[in-house]
Amino acid sequence: MNDLVVRRIGRLTSWARPVIEDAAVVITDGVIAWLGPDNALPADLRDAPELDAAGAAVLPGFVDCHTHAVWAGDRREDFLARVDGGDYRPGGIASTVVATAAAATEELTATTAARLSRMRSNGATTVEIKSGYGLTVDSELRLLDVAAAAAGQVDVSASTTYLGAHVVPVGRDRAEYVEEVIATLPAAAAHGAQWCDVFCDEGAFTVDEARRILSAAARHGLGTRMHAEQLANTGAARLAAELGCASADHLDFVTAGDAQAMAAAAVVGVLVPVASLYTRSGRWSHATVLREAGVSLAIATDCNPGTAHNESMPLAIQLGCLEMGLGVEESLRAATLGGAKALRRDDVGHLGIGAHGDLVVLASDHEVDVVAHLGAASVATTIHGGRT
Ligand SMILES: [Zn+2]
Repeated sequence: MNDLVVRRIGRLTSWARPVIEDAAVVITDGVIAWLGPDNALPADLRDAPELDAAGAAVLPGFVDCHTHAVWAGDRREDFLARVDGGDYRPGGIASTVVATAAAATEELTATTAARLSRMRSNGATTVEIKSGYGLTVDSELRLLDVAAAAAGQVDVSASTTYLGAHVVPVGRDRAEYVEEVIATLPAAAAHGAQWCDVFCDEGAFTVDEARRILSAAARHGLGTRMHAEQLANTGAARLAAELGCASADHLDFVTAGDAQAMAAAAVVGVLVPVASLYTRSGRWSHATVLREAGVSLAIATDCNPGTAHNESMPLAIQLGCLEMGLGVEESLRAATLGGAKALRRDDVGHLGIGAHGDLVVLASDHEVDVVAHLGAASVATTIHGGRT
């Protein structure tokens, strides 16, 4: 079932070797078994079901390493307040928490699966999914379960992240809530979470609170990542470096010194340019600061209802390139290899022998068109583990 030969690839970007023109890829049992020029395809590998790429360019499947894909309700009032001005009442994260609590698990799973399906249609084959719109013990665990169930329905590789430390819930004592987040860590791990994330920023959690939560998370065997320096420079990126987090994400207010600390600690910098667009922050230059310090970069959608309502890695790549100043190849690498590194995966994000058979067949004969052809559907076919 998971064997596939993709033939007549116009240009194959694998990152494992230079671009191959007129290429073929063989996927056996869901992993890459062979790649090379189509006319060199070994005879004994020609039996598998075939997909004719008809000259299209092919990339490794996109790795979307930062999403908040589990929520109910909408944030249209927030959007209209920002865009139209006038008499709207933005509800913020708290309004999504209320709407999510009111949604039945079945409905929540279906809407989450629909989002993951749109991500997959846009080329994502590996997706990180955060909780964070529950903010009680039971509701956060429910969201982790929903994320896993939805991912199972859509056939993407998913890892889940416990983000109980998203905001302090309305009416709760913050010190007590931090204790509750820490006490929930073993249950979060038991419900399948691989990661713990903290929104460490002005108006969210402090550096000291984040240190306590993430240190405890590491003791419980969870990997750590952070929302850092999005709204102000608070020292969050330095904390990510101190703790050896897999990634620090957003980073709009990162300094050169912070970036150097991240580079020294091999913390991946996750760029979420759709959030900069959506919130009209006008902040794009941090990508350059990170790159100059030698930080490994990833690009993600930040799919969430309030500040980046989208399921499109191509859109994130376009903004990474056109607004943040990355090169085309650099953006594509950040969206594949970079995302894999942010999730500490070496089996996705590239098409080396033995890697997952995750491919994006583009709707164009050249990968530059992912950025150069705006407003078009970039992806023709997404292949995950050899399945189209
Ligand atoms: Zn986020």
